[in-house]
Amino acid sequence: MLKLSKRLQLIADYVTAGSRVADIGSDHAMLPVYLLQSGKSPSAIAGELNRGPYEAAKKQGADAGLSAQLTVRQGDGLNVLQIGEADTVTIAGMGGSLMSDILEAGHALNKLEGVKELVLQPNVGEEIVREWLLKHDWFLAGETIIEEDGKIYEIMHAVRSADVALRNDDLYDGSFLKLELPSETLFKILKQMGPHLLRNPEPALFKKWRHELNKLGRICQQLSESELAESTIKRDQFQLEMNRIEEVLQCLPTVKPLSN
Ligand code: SAM
Repeated sequence: MLKLSKRLQLIADYVTAGSRVADIGSDHAMLPVYLLQSGKSPSAIAGELNRGPYEAAKKQGADAGLSAQLTVRQGDGLNVLQIGEADTVTIAGMGGSLMSDILEAGHALNKLEGVKELVLQPNVGEEIVREWLLKHDWFLAGETIIEEDGKIYEIMHAVRSADVALRNDDLYDGSFLKLELPSETLFKILKQMGPHLLRNPEPALFKKWRHELNKLGRICQQLSESELAESTIKRDQFQLEMNRIEEVLQCLPTVKPLSN
């Protein structure tokens, strides 16, 4: 059986056993091949926009003797899917903006009809993906943050839910942070940093946002060297953003309580 990276394994772990999976932007089709080999999925579709990865995915499926169960299709995003063909859609390893464009285009063509869960791993722009999920009434049931080979990844698991509005209201209620901030600011923070990740902060979360603070600090420093009024406005905005991130990090528990 294929040995997956920690990142891909966590994505695979979120997939509900028995689900027919469509992996969009599959590249070498490592994830669907693993899901088939492990018996977690009875069938899978690997979608690829580009010729090279599409060929690589076909080869991976054939080498694993899985050509009957793994359908490899070349095309843009969810266009490769027929309505009702998949229970789970996974999209990993691309930016959040591209990912939400793919989801939006697929949604407009009803390609997500019948899909019960999404497992998403944006490399950047996680906030855009959370916003897309909220806008389209998906419930973010779980999130994980990990570090692998010096990179930090966030993985999101979204499901359909009858009482999605209520559940999302609860999930994105930032009062647990105990910060004296307007509710819209808390909502924004939760979308940016992850509502589950903030409730159960892992070392990788602190590392990611410390890194982000350093980056913003360097940008502020550069902006301070400019005499343009615009640069001063931008610097002040970044400074506010930094203060807010710092405030959030300060209020989070750094040591997890021991469970009984
Ligand atoms: N999903 C794999 C992973 O997480 O390891 C591969 C990630 S790879 C960095 C991103 C893949 O997405 C590339 O193979 C690229 O060709 C594909 N891709 C980019 N835009 C796409 C689109 N609109 N539709 C389908 N595939 C796309």
